[in-house]
Amino acid sequence: MADIIKLLPDHVANQIAAGEVVQRPASVVKELLENAIDAGASSIKLIVKDAGKTLIQIIDDGKGMSDTDARMSFERHATSKITTADDLFNLNTKGFRGEALASIAAVAHVALKTRPEGAEVGTHIEIEGSKIITQEVCATPKGTSLAVKNLFFNIPARRNFLKSNSVELRHVIDEFQRVALAHPDIAFAMYHNEGELFQLPKGNLKQRIVGIFGGKTNEKLVPVQEETDILTINGFVVKPEFSKKTRGEQFFFVNDRFIKSAYLNHAVTAAFDGLLPDRARASYFLYLKVDPATIDINIHPTKTEIKFDDEHALYAMLRSTIKHSLGQFSIAPVLDFNRDSELDTPYDYKNKGVVTPKIEVDRTFNPFESVPAPKRGAQRPDYEKPDVTGWEKMYEGMESQATAGSTITFEKEVSTGNMFESGLNTKAAAPITAAASSQDESSTYQLNKKYIVSTIKSGMVIIDQHKAHQRVLYEEFLRNITVKESVSQQLLFPLTLTYSTTELALIEELKEGLENTGFIFGLISGDILEINGIPTSITESQVPVVIDQLLSDLENEVPDSGFSQTDTLAKSMAKSLAVKGGETLDSLSREHLVNSLFACKEPSISPTNKKTFITITGDDLDRKFK
Ligand code: ADP
Ligand code: MG
Repeated sequence: MADIIKLLPDHVANQIAAGEVVQRPASVVKELLENAIDAGASSIKLIVKDAGKTLIQIIDDGKGMSDTDARMSFERHATSKITTADDLFNLNTKGFRGEALASIAAVAHVALKTRPEGAEVGTHIEIEGSKIITQEVCATPKGTSLAVKNLFFNIPARRNFLKSNSVELRHVIDEFQRVALAHPDIAFAMYHNEGELFQLPKGNLKQRIVGIFGGKTNEKLVPVQEETDILTINGFVVKPEFSKKTRGEQFFFVNDRFIKSAYLNHAVTAAFDGLLPDRARASYFLYLKVDPATIDINIHPTKTEIKFDDEHALYAMLRSTIKHSLGQFSIAPVLDFNRDSELDTPYDYKNKGVVTPKIEVDRTFNPFESVPAPKRGAQRPDYEKPDVTGWEKMYEGMESQATAGSTITFEKEVSTGNMFESGLNTKAAAPITAAASSQDESSTYQLNKKYIVSTIKSGMVIIDQHKAHQRVLYEEFLRNITVKESVSQQLLFPLTLTYSTTELALIEELKEGLENTGFIFGLISGDILEINGIPTSITESQVPVVIDQLLSDLENEVPDSGFSQTDTLAKSMAKSLAVKGGETLDSLSREHLVNSLFACKEPSISPTNKKTFITITGDDLDRKFK
């Protein structure tokens, strides 16, 4: 039999390797930025066209390359950063694999211009799909400029897999921000389609954060600092009251490298325990420095995970350091032993004013007056019951803390009204207000301020008010959006909200869908979003809530197609506007909700596929009592 095994030609091997390294424009941006940093640049410029699909260019003022190095840099496993395997355990550079340029050159048109300090002329190389097209001397400033054009020109399948420009741009911006945050001592600029997105002069860490996330960030930051034998921690956490629902502003850097770590995130979240408003996430910019020998970054080139030798110690230190910082800025109790969480001041409670307890003295009371001794258990005639009304106030806003099952509150006396018994289906379709107001006696009651209970022919139905309302609103929004007949209320004064560049890019992408729901947008630029009109179904103060929820729902991907975009919008708006658990509903609202729910196309599940109600039949009850 003839031999059949062959070595793959270089350009094929490179293309295969490229599949690992280059997944999207953002991966190219990351590799090139890191090369510029490794080259000791003090100023780095990123120019992007069409979210990087047409052009990604990085210009640095780093050490440049000689003409031989320039040619070599595109060879696979060609690197100046390590020479022996031992170097792997003491890495001070971002790169070390020598794969990035070879991979990028295999799947794009690349133009390199570079000149080292002291050389009179530089080198200009052009490569297309691993083939050198041009190599010549050229006049160019000190440093390196690398332009990557028409990414995936030779792999149509991959090119087609790229997402919309705004999604790809968001990934590019994410990478840019991560690198810029890791290196405040380097000046960065970023341009997209000729417009300037970021201009970040060199400065300290705080200036860099503010440069990226906007001027208001300044007042939100609490410094964090700690130094121990195995670790230094530096950076900032965002005050709990400014936390958002999005995960957008969670940054860990280990030895100046951005990493993701669910474990360390958990440590930070634990330090914020009890301080964050409902469902909010901690925001942070944390820089850890550890001995490079104690971590392993030698995993997948595009992965941001990292392995630590002693994760548990890191966890504990991080948690207590942040707790301490929050405490120092009198944001949290400083004590750091295992507290009984029931003794903590609830988050909402700290906003309440201090009330001095009243001591009332009965000046007419004479202990020596002869009054027949009361019988055991009987009340003394002159003894007044202490005034205990208003004790509920102490618990206001604490519903969310209540342990499930600890209380069962019936808001109303059980009523024997039976709206469903008279025919659930016919009733449900009837106009809601009429149905509700025609009933004097309530046939529903609220349980734990969370569930609506009502009787039905076969027994009882328990409705989750939040999920049910989501279903109702969802169908309503969907109708409005698809029919495009939603009504706007024009605002007298435009509402101006600030968002990060990334968030605005997202909003821009969803603009049409949002406009179909009734939003009217004015200017969208810089970090400003101007809103001139809003849907009639929401109030002005709900707008930020709706948009925040939307941004957090869209964190990972903006749906491309029209329909799924509409659907996501409707779901997200329904989620943010639906009544929450903990809100008391009067009988009219309860019945309105019940009737609207059962008038829905799919009353039994919420837009996120959870049950909206359960039923308990008479048989179920009988069984329970056996
Ligand atoms: P790695 O960064 O893993 O070494 P790359 O393929 O990214 O591999 O780069 C190959 C080599 O090209 C680098 O080791 C470096 O010597 C050189 N190089 C790449 N980019 C630059 C740059 N912007 N300035 C100077 N040298 C560079
Ligand atoms: Mg590199």
